[in-house]
Parts: sequence; C-alpha cells; structure tokens
Amino acid sequence: MSVLIVAGLDSSTGAGLARDLAVMAELGLQARIAATAVTAQDAAGGCLRHPVPGAMVAAQIRAAGPVRAAKLGMLADAEVVAAVAESLPPVPIVLDPVLATSAGVALIDAAGLAAMLARLFPLATLITPNLPEAARLTGLPEETAPDRLAAALVALGARAVLLKGGHGQGAEAVDWLFRPDAPALRLASPRKPGTTRGTGCTLASAIAGHLALGADLAVACAGAKAHLDGWL
Ligand code: PLP
Repeated sequence: MSVLIVAGLDSSTGAGLARDLAVMAELGLQARIAATAVTAQDAAGGCLRHPVPGAMVAAQIRAAGPVRAAKLGMLADAEVVAAVAESLPPVPIVLDPVLATSAGVALIDAAGLAAMLARLFPLATLITPNLPEAARLTGLPEETAPDRLAAALVALGARAVLLKGGHGQGAEAVDWLFRPDAPALRLASPRKPGTTRGTGCTLASAIAGHLALGADLAVACAGAKAHLDGWL
C-alpha cells in the first residue's frame, strides 16, 4: 500500500522528504515521491532553494502509479502548485501549508501561496497549519480562538482543519480538529522541551499514512499525534 509524498528535499534531513519517508517506513507503508524542490540547509539556518520544474513534478506524480493517500508539504512556487493541482490522484490529501523553515526562510513565494489557497485548499481533505501559519494565512493574531482561526481558514477554501498548537504555551500541546458536520475534537499531548525540526512533516505524513490504512480523519489525527509523541 503506497502513499504519495509531494514535498521538498531538506539537505540536512531534519524535515521535508527524508522525514516523510522515515514516517512511511515506521508505519510499514510504501512511499512514492514527487520532489518539489531541492534545498541546501545548514546548521546556522541558511537555506538555498531550487524548485523543480512543474512538468517534472507532474511526471513524478504520474509515475507514482496507484496510491491510497497523498501528503503535500513544501510547494515552492505557483508553477509547482499548478502541476500538483492538475495531476493529483483522487485520494485523501493532507496539505501541510509549509510557509517557511523554523529559521524563517520562505519555502513558498507569494504567487505560490495564492495558488495554494485557490487551487489546493479546495482539493485537500485536511490542512494542517500550526498557529503562526494559520495567523499568516488568515491575517488574524495567533492568539485568536481556535474555532475562529479555523472558520477563517474554511472561508479561504479549506474543507477540514487540524490547527496545531505546538507553537502555543502551556504544559500540553493542544491540536484542534475542525470538520464539517462534526464537533471540534481536542487532541492534547504533553509539551516536549525545546524545538525539534520536522514535527510538522512527521504529523502530516503520519495522518496521510493512517488515512491510507483506512482510518477516518479523527482516528488518523489521533493516531498521528501518538506517533509524533512517540518519535519526540
Ligand atoms: N525544509 C523543507 C524542505 C520542509 O519541507 C520543511 C517543512 O515542512 C522545512 C524545511 C521546515 O522544517 P522546520 O520547521 O522543522 O525547520
């Protein structure tokens, strides 16, 4: 059973495709990959980016053959977004709206971001923003109540939202799952000290993996959160 990973290659292996592949191995799933960009990332937070041409991204997705779910990470620019939107298979799609590295280097440009909202939010089964990403996407402060942030993301085209609280405060990292026609679901785990790279990639990939295995959104998110907790 295969999951399609559409993401960027982080040369330091802390995040991106290398992390996504590790999650698939941990879940006992096969992966197919479509690399959207190559990056050179160093320990000081430096990050050079080289997007893959859209036609090549589309060719990788077509070459993947049948898959049961897809995870979308770094999308780089509007050309990549268009290629992905036009070639994705009709399977559950988890979109991690990656905007920047932890060190603050942009991983998608302004036109790419607009294209992601217009073309991929409506296609995605679930989007998985953290609080800074949700704030940037909606223009609302990070302290805004989770249900209001999620409603603003739905107004931008999202179908379901996992709002991740890892960047918040408190003894627990609290994520909220918002779906149409279901009450909000609170998912909490003990907050781990420090910051680890690749947590967002790990969670989104694990959700896609659980969806591929047949879980519904709530079970997939809870299973992925437990997986992330175990890894951390
Ligand atoms: N580099 C790539 C290619 C990524 O896909 C991501 C996140 O998805 C990052 C860097 C950022 O990772 P972190 O926030 O862990 O620095």
